Amino acid sequence: RAKESNRPYHFYDPSLNAQVARSLELQSALRRATDCQEFELHYQPKVDTRTRALVGLEALIRWTDPQRGIVPPGVFVPVLEEIGLIGQVGEWVVRRALAQQREWLRMGLVPPRIAVNVSVRQLQSPEFAAEIGRVLQDFPDIHGASPGGLDIEVTESVAMDDPAACARRLADLRRLAIGIAIDDFGTGHSSLAYLTTLPAQALKIDRSFIAGLLVTSEARTIVQTIISLAHALRMQVIAEGVESEDQAAMLAEMGCDQMQGYLCGRPQPATAIEALLRRTERP
Ligand code: C2E
Ligand code: CA
Ligand code: CA
Ligand code: CA
Repeated sequence: RAKESNRPYHFYDPSLNAQVARSLELQSALRRATDCQEFELHYQPKVDTRTRALVGLEALIRWTDPQRGIVPPGVFVPVLEEIGLIGQVGEWVVRRALAQQREWLRMGLVPPRIAVNVSVRQLQSPEFAAEIGRVLQDFPDIHGASPGGLDIEVTESVAMDDPAACARRLADLRRLAIGIAIDDFGTGHSSLAYLTTLPAQALKIDRSFIAGLLVTSEARTIVQTIISLAHALRMQVIAEGVESEDQAAMLAEMGCDQMQGYLCGRPQPATAIEALLRRTERP
């Protein structure tokens, strides 16, 4: 080994060299972040489209690296998948969300349901449901208790990867009383026939369609069609990325069940959600 490392390396493209070095540095920073639990969860409210009552929260992972500052999950989650740490971090996410519900319960607050995001790689692991099941056993007072509870959001394109295996894994999670939502619906390669075989209770309409709602009649048609489809399959529909009152009004008129977006609340730390829970309990 020592001999090998003495051998000179020839990099012909200095920019590629720098890129590789940067990506290796990011990987090792993420290994450290995973070991030292540098991650945090923020929570975004989900509200009833008609009444605006809080119906749940989506947990979104956050990472502030000492050198890089805030790194968005869209950047580091794929790297965690690549280096095989997404399972470990995903388990931490579930544990943290349940611990948060327990903390709120102990404060005398009513903990809302929490949805966590699950990546491709996590669902591909045959151990996934069993691992989640073990975590749930540590929270008998929280999971399965009412209110509270755990949901997962799976991206549609992911769900389509290995249809049969995916449907089986999701069914295992259903048996653990976990709610399942298909995330970013409308962006993947959907097979409508396949959708009916998934044990999901909710569809989340991708933000891109909501952004087009007041702009193009095509987006409007797509949103209305997804809502009708979901209801025909006895599923709930959640609109994501709702930013304006006009969008909210149109979604209410179309019969969309729940919505989420900057209009109703940004993803925020637990303490901010706490204040919200206190306000809604004692007006
Ligand atoms: P997603 O599941 O589709 O999450 C919604 C994203 O939209 C979030 O970005 C959220 O902050 C953002 N968002 C919410 N409301 C609005 C709005 O009104 N307008 C706009 N423009 N954006 C809005 P974020 O937090 O950067 O997360 C990006 C993606 O990273 C998520 O997409 C999800 O796929 C992934 N992710 C986040 N947390 C986790 C996690 O714990 N595990 C895994 N596997 N993936 C995660
Ligand atoms: Ca999501
Ligand atoms: Ca989404
Ligand atoms: Ca997404």
